Amino acid sequence: MSESATGDDDSYELLIIGGGVAGLTAATFTARAGLTTLVVDHGESILRRNAHLENFPGFPAGVNPRLFADMLQAQATRNGAGYQQGLVEELSGSLDEGFVATVGAVGNADDRREISADRVLVASWSDVSYLDGVGVDIRDAGSKQYVEDDGLGRTNIKGIYAAGRIAERYHQAVIAAGDGAAAAITLIHDSETPFYNDWVVPEGYFTDRGREVPPGCEEIDAAEQQARQAASRAAMQEYFSEAHEERQRTHPSLVDDEKGRVDWDKEAAQ
Ligand SMILES: Cc1cc2nc3c(=O)[nH]c(=O)nc-3n(C[C@H](O)[C@H](O)[C@H](O)COP(=O)(O)OP(=O)(O)OC[C@H]3O[C@@H](n4cnc5c(N)ncnc54)[C@H](O)[C@@H]3O)c2cc1C
Repeated sequence: MSESATGDDDSYELLIIGGGVAGLTAATFTARAGLTTLVVDHGESILRRNAHLENFPGFPAGVNPRLFADMLQAQATRNGAGYQQGLVEELSGSLDEGFVATVGAVGNADDRREISADRVLVASWSDVSYLDGVGVDIRDAGSKQYVEDDGLGRTNIKGIYAAGRIAERYHQAVIAAGDGAAAAITLIHDSETPFYNDWVVPEGYFTDRGREVPPGCEEIDAAEQQARQAASRAAMQEYFSEAHEERQRTHPSLVDDEKGRVDWDKEAAQ
């Protein structure tokens, strides 16, 4: 079930509901800040329907969106976040008492469970019914519903934050990623975890000026820089060494398949 959970007995400082672009980016920031973070994800980021992601910074020739989603997950878990597949069905509790999420399994009806957390960040899309029990302000917009927030991720309920499409941000991956990071930093500050920018800097950047390395920052020497560069080159070469296997999805209304996958065999035969 858990691939790299970091809390004890299914209890975490932060539960992130939804492991798409916003949720996984948020998890990278909160885990790096030292909050025990678990992402529970139904596994259907809307980005997986994209054919080729060409406007995310850092990929000059674009990137397969399903590979990109996998890499976001790897980045979050590599930095210490836990990741579990599951569908959150209900959320209850408060900041004072703690929150409890009831999680239904994906593809295994027996695997229902409860997860406790001090704080919750919602980054799911697009069903908000699991929030009915906690009183989060919701905006109805026809067929869609959005969680209201203060622009920095705080909802009207203390301890519950929102990021990405569920918070009605623009519909681009880089916006969702940035919004996930912003909500995460808001949450880190509210949790009173010591934090300053999450920067990795060359040895001496702070200390040679008589400053302590601020919390959440790191100074690394030349050898460590080279080691990290080598590790990142090896990882990226592996990620891009072969075509991504997962089949393309399209809008579910276009294909007779609950996940809306393009039927490549049928396409090829036409
Ligand atoms: C066809 C298509 C093409 C696109 N192309 C581009 C593009 O080229 N460039 C670009 O910048 N953007 C593109 N986008 C938009 C981009 O994909 C979204 O803006 C972005 O994915 C939003 O991120 P998010 O984290 O808010 O939502 P998502 O990435 O959708 O993540 C939400 C996650 O929450 C999970 N979830 C939902 N409910 C629950 C629950 N109850 N419990 C647990 N998990 C749950 C979902 O399974 C999903 O993994 C495209 C979108 C589509 C549909």
